[in-house]
Amino acid sequence: MCVFKKEIEGKQIVCCFSKTDYLVDKILIDNEGLCIFHSKNEAWKNENNFIFHLEKLICYFEEDSTQKNIFLEDIIFTTSIDKIFSDREFKKDIKFNNSKFNVNLTFKSSRFKNLDFNSAIFDKPVTFSDLSIKGIMFDNAAFKLKLFISDCDFFNGFFMLNTHFDGGFSILNSLFHSNCFFQNIITNMDKSIHDAIIFKNIEFKDFTTFELSEFNSVVDFKNIIIYKELVFHNTQFNYDEPLPIVSSVTFSQINIKEKGTLEFRGISDNKMFNKVQNVSFVGEEIDGKLFFENTDFTKFNLLTRKRLISATKKKNAKVVIGIGCIKYYNQTPLKSIEISDDNQSLVIELCNTFVDYFTKNAGFNLGVEFVSKTNQYINFFYFSDEDISYEKFENQLQKSEQAMWRLIKIDNDNLSAQPPKNHLPSKIINATDTIVNLLGLVLKIGSRIPLGLISKEDILHLVNTTLPSNIRPNNAIMINQIVLFGTKNTQTIKIKKIE
Ligand SMILES: [Zn+2]
Repeated sequence: MCVFKKEIEGKQIVCCFSKTDYLVDKILIDNEGLCIFHSKNEAWKNENNFIFHLEKLICYFEEDSTQKNIFLEDIIFTTSIDKIFSDREFKKDIKFNNSKFNVNLTFKSSRFKNLDFNSAIFDKPVTFSDLSIKGIMFDNAAFKLKLFISDCDFFNGFFMLNTHFDGGFSILNSLFHSNCFFQNIITNMDKSIHDAIIFKNIEFKDFTTFELSEFNSVVDFKNIIIYKELVFHNTQFNYDEPLPIVSSVTFSQINIKEKGTLEFRGISDNKMFNKVQNVSFVGEEIDGKLFFENTDFTKFNLLTRKRLISATKKKNAKVVIGIGCIKYYNQTPLKSIEISDDNQSLVIELCNTFVDYFTKNAGFNLGVEFVSKTNQYINFFYFSDEDISYEKFENQLQKSEQAMWRLIKIDNDNLSAQPPKNHLPSKIINATDTIVNLLGLVLKIGSRIPLGLISKEDILHLVNTTLPSNIRPNNAIMINQIVLFGTKNTQTIKIKKIE
C-alpha cells in the first residue's frame, strides 16, 4: 500500500491508485513506500516502466463506465508522456490537479474534454499544439519555463487564476469560443531575456478578462478579433526597461467587431500603463467600442494619442475616454468649482482667456478640458502636450498667470490696462487681446452684481480658483475693486495708449 497522504480541509486523503483495480498485479512501491505514480525516484520509475503503468491506468479510467474522469492527480511525471497524449481522442475529462511535471510536456493533435491543471507545477517548457479542448483550467499553477500554445480551439472556457509564470507564454493562431479568465496572473521574468507574453492571431468569441494581474514582461497582442468583451481591469503592465525597436506593450491590428468592446480600466491610484516606457496601439479596426478609464495616455505616442482623442469627438464615437485618464504629457489636477449655472460661462471665459494668453506668451501649447458640468459645479483641468517636465510646466503656468493679472488694474472706480512695454508686436497684440478679454470679463462680473446674480464669495472663488496655479491677482484689492466697480456701475474703462 502506498504511503502517500495529503490533507484537504482537515480530511486525510490517501493514495487512490492503490485502491483501483486497474492492475492485475499488486501496485509497485518504491523504497520510500510510494507507488509508481507518487514516487519521486526518477530512475526507479524508468526501470519499472512508468509509461506502461500510466497507459494502463488511463485505459482503466477510460473503460470503466463508473469512472467519470481520468484521474491523474498528484502524480510526479519524470519521463516524457508526450506520446500518450498526442494524436488521440479522449472521451473523458482529465484531472492533472496537483501534479508535478519534471519533464517537457508536449500535447499535439489531440481532442480533449476538460483538462484540469489546477495547482500543477511545470518545471520544463509546456507546448500545446493543434488541440481541440473543451475547457482548460490552470488555477494556482506555476510555470517555471515557457508555456506555448498554438493552433488550439478552446470551446468551453479557459481559466488561469493565480497562475505564476517564471518564463514567458505565447498563445498563437487559436480560437477561444467561450469565456476566458486571466486573473491574478503574475509573470516574473528575467528582464534581460525579454521573455514576452504574446497573443497573436487570436479570436476571442466570448467574454474575456485580464484582471488584477501583473505583467512584468513585454506584452504583445497582435491580430486579435474581439466579438464580445475583452477587458483589462486593474492589470499592471510593469516592463520598464527601454527597448530599441518594439514597445514594452503592443496592441496591433486589433479588430473590435460590431458587438464587441475592448476595455482598459485602471484604478485611480494605479493608472493603466503608468509603469511602462511606452505603449504601441496601431492598425485598429473598430466597429464596436474601445473604452478607457484611468488610463495613462501619455504612454502612447503623440499620433496615436491624437487619433484616439479625436475619435472620441466624432458623432456616435466608437472610442470613449472615461474618467481618470491622463491624456496629455502634462496635465493639472482636476479642478472643481462650485458656481451657479448663471456664472459658469465666466469660469469658461477666464479659462479660455488664460489658455490663449499662455499659448502666445509662453510659446508652447496649453488647453483646457471641461470634464463635467452640473447646475452647481464645473470640473476641468489644464493640459499641455509639450515635452517638458511637470516642474517646468507648473513654473510656466505660474509665471504666465502673474504676468496676465498685471495687464489690468482697477482703481478709483476705473479699469485700466497696463500692456507690456518694449515687446515684439506679436506679444503686444497678445497682451492687448487678453486685456480686452479680461476687461470684458470684469464688466460681465460687474453687471451681475446689481442684479444679485453673483456674490462676493462667488467672485473670490471665480478669480482665485479658476486658473491653474491659483495666484491671486497682483493687485490685492482687485477683487474688492471689482465688487465696488460693479456696485457703482460707473463702467468707465481707460486703456492707456501702447507706447
Ligand atoms: Zn500512490
